[in-house]
Amino acid sequence: MLYGSIEHAHAEPFAEAIARNAAFRAWVLRQTKFKQFADGARLLDEEMKAKRSRFSTTWWRSHYTEACRCEGCSGQETDLLAVFEAQAGLRFALHVEVKQPRDRFPAHKNQAGSYASRAACWTTSPPKSVIRHSNAATLFLCSRTKLAKYKPHLSRFGSVITFEDVAGWNGLSGLSDTDQSAPKRYRQGIARQ
Ligand SMILES: [Zn+2]
Repeated sequence: MLYGSIEHAHAEPFAEAIARNAAFRAWVLRQTKFKQFADGARLLDEEMKAKRSRFSTTWWRSHYTEACRCEGCSGQETDLLAVFEAQAGLRFALHVEVKQPRDRFPAHKNQAGSYASRAACWTTSPPKSVIRHSNAATLFLCSRTKLAKYKPHLSRFGSVITFEDVAGWNGLSGLSDTDQSAPKRYRQGIARQ
């Protein structure tokens, strides 16, 4: 199995659902400080992809820069980045750390704390591959079964959503199979754990 593929399997359904399902996108944003923009915020996925190198296969995965040496950027990355545009024109970013259930926070790195520093850094000087935005929030996506273990790190993130929260999301009615992908895939994954 490719390195990082388990994490990818946990991050991709979330990214896809944010892109394809307006109700899911709004549900996620309502759990952040951008709740007032939750309805009607547009994900700038195409614009994000266009800014990235041709080697990047997704708009969302693994955003980082080593051009900035601040504590948020140096040796760190954002697992899943999403930049949105509110109806009023405000552009804001969501930096998401994704921990698959068997993963842990590295012992000698301030990985959790780096998210807030990096999110702040990029609102004033984004990497060349990231579109400009004037505000940002952080989110931690993980398994509910690991919340106790991750407790010292949780307060470093603006919000926490679990795979179980997504699996239990009740906005499914009337949606296509594709739109159901994140909740459905997490349900299947949780059943296997
Ligand atoms: Zn920086």
